[in-house]
Amino acid sequence: MLSTDHPRTPLENAHPGRMIRIDAGAAIDATRTIAPASMLLEIHACESHPLSSAPILDATILVLDVPGQVDAHPAAADAERVDLTGSALLPAMVNAHTHLDLTHVGPQKTDPDGGFVPWIEMVRTRRSHDPEQVARSVREGVRLSLAAGVVAVGDIAGACASEASLSALAALLDSPLHAVSFVEFFATGARTDEGIAQADERLRASLDLCAQSTRIRVGIQPHAPYSCGPRAYRWAIARATDLSLPVSTHLGETVEELDLIAHGRGPMRAFLESLGLWGGQQGFGQGLRPPEHLRTVLETRPMLCAHVNSLRDEDIALLARTGASVAYCPRAHAAFGHEARLGAHPYRRLLDAGVPVALATDSIVTLPESTPERGMGVLDELRLVARRDGVQRLDLITTTPAMMLGLDPNRFLLRAGGCPMGLVATGMEKNAQGPLAGVLMSDAPATLLFSSNSCGFTGMGVA
Ligand SMILES: [Zn+2]
Repeated sequence: MLSTDHPRTPLENAHPGRMIRIDAGAAIDATRTIAPASMLLEIHACESHPLSSAPILDATILVLDVPGQVDAHPAAADAERVDLTGSALLPAMVNAHTHLDLTHVGPQKTDPDGGFVPWIEMVRTRRSHDPEQVARSVREGVRLSLAAGVVAVGDIAGACASEASLSALAALLDSPLHAVSFVEFFATGARTDEGIAQADERLRASLDLCAQSTRIRVGIQPHAPYSCGPRAYRWAIARATDLSLPVSTHLGETVEELDLIAHGRGPMRAFLESLGLWGGQQGFGQGLRPPEHLRTVLETRPMLCAHVNSLRDEDIALLARTGASVAYCPRAHAAFGHEARLGAHPYRRLLDAGVPVALATDSIVTLPESTPERGMGVLDELRLVARRDGVQRLDLITTTPAMMLGLDPNRFLLRAGGCPMGLVATGMEKNAQGPLAGVLMSDAPATLLFSSNSCGFTGMGVA
């Protein structure tokens, strides 16, 4: 898929051996801000990809400092200059929880009063299981992610038909993204054995397909406590332990799920019964909260838990004690009106307890209508919490989700001597208190200047 000519971009003259100097209003990463800032980039290799308007570079930051300091560097005189003085430079970003295979469904209106079950039914009805359409959907999701400055994702491969699931993975393998592709499965009630057997087959085929890749890893995702029984979770944890795979799950997303787990009743039970999936003996109805329901699973292996929208202090202590991490999806949370039913999302309490928290998008289905034009990124998630809660932490969309997926967090910092996984430019609101506040108060899109395809994995992530 890679070709040698790439479209126009601010770094269109990036060729191997060339030096590029970017002058910007600020350079901001999770640990510091330099304003104004100049960056001297040495380009080692350059490629292009049809899904990205930005080049794919192997590049080293030679210097990053205030402009006067960069002027003094011996390489500065011959560098090609790129003027981004009206913009801030940020590291490329990581989206720890998304469903690229649902991109073809597009943004849909949510009806908080209608509850969660009609929404699940809508997604079940609209999602494609056709391998070619799933591949197209993932490719479009990749394009929208890159267009919003996201270069690495935790992607949920949710199409259960084996061929469709593998075509989603093949599309990722052919893309410029780094990813953990979590093989998602459903296994509950009378379908537990069948669900596990199918998941095992998909897992083996996915591992075979990715065996040579340095950019794509396989993980495993029991979908959620309402669609996977305790035996399915135990199987996933055992396979993950044998194969050293990261594990993810949806946990504690809705009031319907909380009601099912605690009391064994409600719309979620009726939904499972209608599908012939109500097993009865799932550990429900004992008054437990979702993390308590999965306590023995969490104690066996840390998990990346998506949503986790309602927690008591003892649940937070359990997540902290077991090394779990949380992907909070602020715009999806707001679209479903979870705050009115479940209270404010506990992400600040989780952070205070030392639980790693990343901000993620979930699928395009719960994102704004503008997403197909604007791109599908996590900077807009941080902007939501910054405006609502005053939280201004770039680590929630860069270094922390990188660590959660096993990527080297240092490659999501802007440092002299470093080879960043990518670089993003965005606008700044002029009257804000400082450059980071300016970025978070602005609605300017995040523009990817380049991404890197050199292997960014160092650890096992949540394994
Ligand atoms: Zn999800």
